[in-house]
Amino acid sequence: MRANARVLVVNSGSSSVKASILERGTERELLEALIERIGDEEAHLSLSHEGQKIERALPRADHEAAMQALVEELRKLDLLEDLSAVGHRVVHGGERFSSPVRIDEEVRAVIRELARLAPLHNPANAIGIDAAERALPELPHVAVFDTAFHQSLPRSAYLYAIPFELYETHGLRRYGFHGCSHEFVSLEAARRLGRADLNLVTVHLGNGCSAAAVSGGRSVDTTMGLTPLEGLVMGTRSGDIDPGMLPLLCELTGRDLEGVMRLLNRESGLLGVSGLSNDMRELLEARASGHERAKLAIDVFCHRLARGIMGLTAALPRLDAIIFTGGIGENSPDIRAETLARLRVLGLELDAPANLEHGRHTHGRITTKRAPTALVIPTNEELMIAQHTLETLSRSEV
Ligand code: AMP
Repeated sequence: MRANARVLVVNSGSSSVKASILERGTERELLEALIERIGDEEAHLSLSHEGQKIERALPRADHEAAMQALVEELRKLDLLEDLSAVGHRVVHGGERFSSPVRIDEEVRAVIRELARLAPLHNPANAIGIDAAERALPELPHVAVFDTAFHQSLPRSAYLYAIPFELYETHGLRRYGFHGCSHEFVSLEAARRLGRADLNLVTVHLGNGCSAAAVSGGRSVDTTMGLTPLEGLVMGTRSGDIDPGMLPLLCELTGRDLEGVMRLLNRESGLLGVSGLSNDMRELLEARASGHERAKLAIDVFCHRLARGIMGLTAALPRLDAIIFTGGIGENSPDIRAETLARLRVLGLELDAPANLEHGRHTHGRITTKRAPTALVIPTNEELMIAQHTLETLSRSEV
């Protein structure tokens, strides 16, 4: 493989495809593309490459047509020739995949089979893989799984206390997600703090939110479970609720189970409590102008987050650092401060000026003491996927 190998990273959702090109040895994205509203009259592609922006309407394009259009644009920009591989983000790898794999017929079949555990995500990932393979048949394609990093969880952390046969026969257990992000910031933390034997709680706060306990680079517990609905409060997802509420939710809302799942996935979380928005920036602004329910939503979010972090420390021999990442974790000093204020029992003391200063562009320590500490580290899931893709291919070349 060439020294400056380039990888096309593809993240295919049900109505959107995100793609980027990364080059080995640099952290720079050479290209960023987003195809939105796939299948719709308004479907379109936006692409940026070295300051150049390209917009293209793709009315009624399906995944196949969208991917062909992307490849055409890459050809026009002379970016196609230099690609070495395609790395696909796949949400659920079940217990079958604890590391990335080169995609073949069998891998494709397992990804489809795992749609049982991730009906909202894996089918869309599989459609994206098929479309990309048809558009770029000459390149190797690799699947990188969101669940893989958490396959090191011990049984005590991944088993639900339900009849054991349901785990054995149907794989009902906790899997965890956002693996590429938790892995990336753990590696970065080890690099920056100059130690590999760190005990961390990594906190990814974006539209979806999850935290993980990471010991010596291995995930030992995490807040998400069988699906990405478990755990922390998120933009529109409820996180943990009492499952005893499910029949009542059906009865009180007049919805069937599918409707209630929609309520928990799309109408809850910050949006549900505030009645205003799922967007943290908007809620912080609304709170500043006296919106009571925006304040309430933020309080619930921070309380549950602090409780989640505290719970994860049970999986660690000691706590060296908490790492904040994701859109909210990187950009909101308020959320970091309000969460850490609830964690004083752990001996964390906020360094207020450092907290205000650090964010997506300047990152680092935001506490006064060196241990335990808290850091802001911007995540880079695409880079992690690109690195895993190249590593997987060089392993298979040996
Ligand atoms: P992500 O999914 O990682 O892009 O994160 C999206 C979330 O980050 C949304 O809730 C945004 O409101 C939030 N976010 C982005 N910038 C800021 C900011 N400056 N302050 C607070 N939240 C932000």
